[in-house]
Amino acid sequence: MIVYAAKHLLPVASPPIQSGAVVVHEGRIATVGRRKDVVRAHPGVEVRDLGEAAIVPGLINAHTHLELSHLHDPQAQPTSFMAWVRDLVARRGQASEEAIESAATAAVETMISRGTVAVGDVGNGTVAGRVLARSTLAGILFHELYGFRASEAESILDAAAARLDAIESESGLAAARGRLTAALTPHAAHTTSGPLLKALGGRATASGEVLSIHVAESEEEMQLLRDGTGAFKDFLIERGAWDPAWRRPGSPRSSTSTGSASSRRGRSPSTASTWTTRISRGSRRAG
Ligand SMILES: [Zn+2]
Repeated sequence: MIVYAAKHLLPVASPPIQSGAVVVHEGRIATVGRRKDVVRAHPGVEVRDLGEAAIVPGLINAHTHLELSHLHDPQAQPTSFMAWVRDLVARRGQASEEAIESAATAAVETMISRGTVAVGDVGNGTVAGRVLARSTLAGILFHELYGFRASEAESILDAAAARLDAIESESGLAAARGRLTAALTPHAAHTTSGPLLKALGGRATASGEVLSIHVAESEEEMQLLRDGTGAFKDFLIERGAWDPAWRRPGSPRSSTSTGSASSRRGRSPSTASTWTTRISRGSRRAG
């Protein structure tokens, strides 16, 4: 047991304390309070005085992309969000697995050195899971899904469930259970079909998982969702990912203009059974 004392203590969950102290016992915070009260209540316990400092809770980075760490380029000056997206898509497939893992490891070390204790990491591969499992960081690995065609929602979910198994087994996450969890999550409303968004939302609701989603990042995204037009639509068409049956949110027949699409919406039997299977394994609960 150790008492850490400092001029300022910011519990965040309660008002700041001047001349405060924290009692740490077996790696956990046992008591927080005024230094004189804490020291009096813990006679004989070592006191480490941090002086003119502020003790604050560990930082949580709620949105990282560790598997993209190797793309960090301080010189880059993209002219627009779409230019940035195009550059990302073009460059992300070019690095070796070792280079990606090495950069992600360095990013984790930097975060830890700056006081980060937990992350919400968004990714598509197994690298972040491996790197985080080896670290001391806690958090959630959001396995990100996208797919704009409503008719493909079910197959995307099925494939994702298999990949989630791979992430857990390949990355050593099993050994880090309780500290790290993995969850399926949608990328964004402008890249993910209505049925896939609903299925992921339903899955998260049923299992108590947290969802992460990119939203309101660019004018191009807003233009697509508001008007059904613009540079992001052109980008999806160019990549062969556009769904001609797609309707912008709020329009009369949004995402359901074909029979096959509507039959695959949300809680279709197959999709529901996918969630149930995942949830029944008992590894999907939050916390
Ligand atoms: Zn992101």
